[in-house]
Amino acid sequence: MFEFIKKTNPVKRLRKRIKARRFNSRLKELELFTEVIPDGVIIINQNLVMEAVNESVQTLLGLPDNAVGKAIDDCVKSNALNGYLRSKSQTEPLEFTSPIQKDSTLELRVFSVDNGSKVLILRDITAQNRLLTMRQSFVANVSHELRTPLTVVKGYLETMSDDSNPEDLRIELISKLNAPVSRMESLVQDLLLLTQLESNPIPPEMDEIDMARLLEDASNEVRGLLKKKDSLEINRESEVKIKGVSKELSSVCINLISNAIRYSPDGARIQVSWSQTPEGKARLAVRDEGFGIAKEHLDRITERFYRVDMKDARTRGGTGLGLAIVKHVLRRHNSELQVESKLNKGSLFFCEFDIA
Ligand code: ADP
Repeated sequence: MFEFIKKTNPVKRLRKRIKARRFNSRLKELELFTEVIPDGVIIINQNLVMEAVNESVQTLLGLPDNAVGKAIDDCVKSNALNGYLRSKSQTEPLEFTSPIQKDSTLELRVFSVDNGSKVLILRDITAQNRLLTMRQSFVANVSHELRTPLTVVKGYLETMSDDSNPEDLRIELISKLNAPVSRMESLVQDLLLLTQLESNPIPPEMDEIDMARLLEDASNEVRGLLKKKDSLEINRESEVKIKGVSKELSSVCINLISNAIRYSPDGARIQVSWSQTPEGKARLAVRDEGFGIAKEHLDRITERFYRVDMKDARTRGGTGLGLAIVKHVLRRHNSELQVESKLNKGSLFFCEFDIA
């Protein structure tokens, strides 16, 4: 009998070994899978002792190498995380500040396993949160920008529809409606253009552009903004052409020149030039002797709706989107906006392009 069992045992043992080997190789595969995912994975038992961790957890929580076998609250300094793990309700994910990087936010989700263990999934949601904040502030900014001219229009319409107001006042207001309506129109146009630029990172077909001519046309479009004593010079130092999208490049020129006019006092000299650099690039430059921009604002002026002086900028008639559009268009043309500016001395906005 014993013999018999002994005889069959090797087969059983072999089966068991094969099973164990398969199990181990599956386990290794599983380990490999968890190592490649960017989310952190931790398995903890009922006593919050870590039974397994993947590599991402180390980066997200700064765990020591020998963390497995230790209680999570001994290794991670986060009251929010440890309090949450001890709490009874873990159905909603926890958002908490990273214990090793104060400006990062992590999200934790907990899944219970039948044997009392728990699987913790950790994700860095800093970028996602930042995007959400940006979207919220964008909507708030757009609403704010539209509300101002809308309030003006509403006020005019109320006065106009009131029969007790004199006829000539009511007629005068009709012509005054033009300014706030044009303002809303420009804002919507700029918003549409910006959205279009952002949703299609690759520009449509590029043509050969005669920038010197395009600059002349753009300058003519904004001449109406010039104050009595302002002067606008266009220096065509080169006739080189570049590859680009005419409508987009025209918007760059119009934005830069109109800014130079709007942010300069009456009598300002504005110089626009198209030239070739010694390095063989084509260069567009717009120089003014206006109010200038303090150093601390320079990095932010291409952000949507960022203005150095909120009140002042609105009365000067911009939409707050001009330089954001310029930045996007230039990026699509393999170029970059550069700014040199001194407060009360003036600014130089320039960019360089590959010659066609
Ligand atoms: P806006 O419609 O407000 O002019 P922009 O995106 O064109 O919006 O410009 C952003 C901000 O950068 C402006 O509000 C202004 O504060 C500043 N700025 C732009 N161009 C000039 C310039 N040539 N001189 C001084 N400040 C400028």
